[in-house]
Amino acid sequence: MSISYSSTRGGETGLTASEAILQGLAKDGGLFVPDRIPALDHTLAELARMDYRELAYQVMKLFFDDFTEEELRGCIEKAYDEKFDTPEIAPLAYAEGAYYLELFHGATIAFKDMALSILPHLMTTSAKKNAISEEIVILTATSGDTGKAALAGFADVPGTRIMVFYPKGGVSRIQELQMVTQKGANTRVVAIHGNFDDAQTGVKKLFADRELERSMKERGFRFSSANSINIGRLVPQICYYVYAYATLLKEERIGEGDPVNIVVPTGNFGNILAAFYAKQMGLPVGKLICASNTNKVLFDFFRSGTYDRNREFVLTSSPSMDILISSNLERLIYRIGGNSPERCKELMALLSGDGKYEITEKEREGLSDFYGNFADEEETFAEIRRIYESCGYVIDTHTAVASAVYQKYLADTKDETPSIIASTASPFKFTRNVMKAMGEDVSAEDDFALVDRLSHLSGVAVPRAVKEIRNAAVLHDTECDVDGMKAVVEAFLV
Ligand SMILES: *Cc1c(COP(=O)(O)O)cnc(C)c1O
Repeated sequence: MSISYSSTRGGETGLTASEAILQGLAKDGGLFVPDRIPALDHTLAELARMDYRELAYQVMKLFFDDFTEEELRGCIEKAYDEKFDTPEIAPLAYAEGAYYLELFHGATIAFKDMALSILPHLMTTSAKKNAISEEIVILTATSGDTGKAALAGFADVPGTRIMVFYPKGGVSRIQELQMVTQKGANTRVVAIHGNFDDAQTGVKKLFADRELERSMKERGFRFSSANSINIGRLVPQICYYVYAYATLLKEERIGEGDPVNIVVPTGNFGNILAAFYAKQMGLPVGKLICASNTNKVLFDFFRSGTYDRNREFVLTSSPSMDILISSNLERLIYRIGGNSPERCKELMALLSGDGKYEITEKEREGLSDFYGNFADEEETFAEIRRIYESCGYVIDTHTAVASAVYQKYLADTKDETPSIIASTASPFKFTRNVMKAMGEDVSAEDDFALVDRLSHLSGVAVPRAVKEIRNAAVLHDTECDVDGMKAVVEAFLV
């Protein structure tokens, strides 16, 4: 029986996978969920003999079941190619008693490449399948990382255009350089005079502008978003957890069926939800360890059953986890509430009203697969240093949050199950803080000099993504006020 997708809030039901991918967010504000989680249809031993692409096909075909084999394999081949600097795509490194699943070997050296390198192909294939002739236009506001990963994914993909808005002065120098040097005739990068929230609000307004939508349709364009709630981003993330397990099995570090724990540095709850789905598919996973930074709204939720966003927002050295509303959590809430759209809608209304909600004792039982904890800045930096000094392996600040939380988990539980830590960014992406943590003096040098020194200290070559921007020409210099965003979009779409 084929899988159908419905909104967590009940407003839309019965969509095919390709329809859900095209639409992204449901019209009632809910997230699309599959009506069941399919079981893996190969044994773990069989999966252990597959390369990344083959395994990714075997996992994704179960969710995207209205794609033909040729269509889906085509998407996978275009996504997981030489853009990645290792044929393994997602290799495992062993350090200090844990397996670090390196998800940062793609175009922008962070884990969002894993999903954003395939999403454009899933979208254009979905458009063809649904006889949509308009060009797909991605509009995104970014505080740094997502924008670049989306640009890299959509650049030069036929049938798409992408426009990214970032706050001028609100992203790091390297992040800005990564974006403004982006190649591809279908890309535009625009600096906004305002902060990230202004850019985000501006993009939301553009999406809600019905008159703009109509005039764009006449010109042959259709807006879409690439954000992490799209089911087309979530499903590709399941694959690397299955692949990590298969790798451990192939290398005889575990036996077939042995459980593993998975530790994930969490912000929007997308990456850890994918690990949860992998478990539901039958992957032998013990605990899902949810690691937060100082913005520990998820830790408090797992501990108390109350989700409360009313608190100070703290800027940390793991900026991609500085989040107070974890949007993908809605899919878990839907599930623990008994797949009830009414209940989910009720809780989400409380969240957007009072900024908090409380789940019942019964619902809390549905969270038993999870363990939550957090690491503050000091603990995060100390963890980078501990691992570097003991074995020379260097991890980034986000991964360090997960690693530090894993140490707390071990101290709390004495659980010796082999554990996989999702390593979500290359240390070369956050060089300054990483080197500070390693005990290096970083005050006198610019970011590129630090990159060279980090390469020397870690014995890891400077990644291509960093090398490329060193001498690249600036190709985007548009700036505008928030009020001017609509005009900039209209000028791009001719
Ligand atoms: C986005 C991001 C995260 C958080 O992932 P979620 O799916 O939002 O939980 C963690 N680390 C890095 C480096 C990221 O870019």
